Amino acid sequence: QQVSTDMKTLTKQIGRFAENKKLEIETLKIRENYRKEFIGNVSHELKTPLFTVQGYILTLLDGAMKDKSVRKKYLKRANKGVERLIYIVKDLDMISKLEVGGLQLQKERFNIIKLIQNVFDLLEMKAAKKKINLIFDIDYKSTGPIEVYADQERIQQVVTNLIVNSIKYGKNNGSIEVSVEDLIKNKVIVRVTDNGEGIEAQHINRVFERFYRVDKSGSRKEGGSGLGLSIVKHILEAHSEKIYVESQYGVGSEFSFTMEKAK
Ligand code: ADP
Repeated sequence: QQVSTDMKTLTKQIGRFAENKKLEIETLKIRENYRKEFIGNVSHELKTPLFTVQGYILTLLDGAMKDKSVRKKYLKRANKGVERLIYIVKDLDMISKLEVGGLQLQKERFNIIKLIQNVFDLLEMKAAKKKINLIFDIDYKSTGPIEVYADQERIQQVVTNLIVNSIKYGKNNGSIEVSVEDLIKNKVIVRVTDNGEGIEAQHINRVFERFYRVDKSGSRKEGGSGLGLSIVKHILEAHSEKIYVESQYGVGSEFSFTMEKAK
């Protein structure tokens, strides 16, 4: 009797062990595929600007160097390519830090109104190039500060990425509205609304994926690495906050996120 009970327990244990191993192998396989896909995406993203830079250098070596004005023009273009490479590498660096959880948040109390105003000032020129109006939905001078508790530098990146996207995918002469509103339970919600090209329903849940871009060729013309929204999502997740998107194709998009109010 005792032997058969022991055998049963042992068989159960072996079964459980095998099940666990199977799960482990599945997880490893998923991770391995993820890694392969990531490397594929990275090399693809780096290839275009690298070939552009090489193209200008080769043309210069081939004789274009002699002409002073051509030389300057090509060097400037090559530099643009290098700038783009730096931009992509910086984004990659950020994403890898965020994904391995190696990014320590430096939470502090700050005025979100001031931060948004600061981002507006930094992006004013970029918006003006497309005659896009940046509108702050609240009269920040009379409202007074809205204090939140978060990592200021990272939240500045979130706001910047969202507004940069609204400019990139915005229409000429369009507008971008940013608002900050009180929510229940000590939270505020920041909304970035544009009247740009909008996102088709089948793409909407995928825009936060790494390297995901709705229109591959079109977006590339606009620059960017396809990592902007993925970085935004990671930063907010690290804060245990959420990002929401609503969009209507051809009409515009609204990205919003929550933040903890300072006590
Ligand atoms: P990138 O802008 O570098 O391509 P993102 O991760 O920031 O990468 O965005 C992913 C994709 O989501 C973009 O390529 C674009 O297709 C879409 N998208 C993001 N923001 C907007 C927006 N405000 N309006 C329309 N499409 C957007």
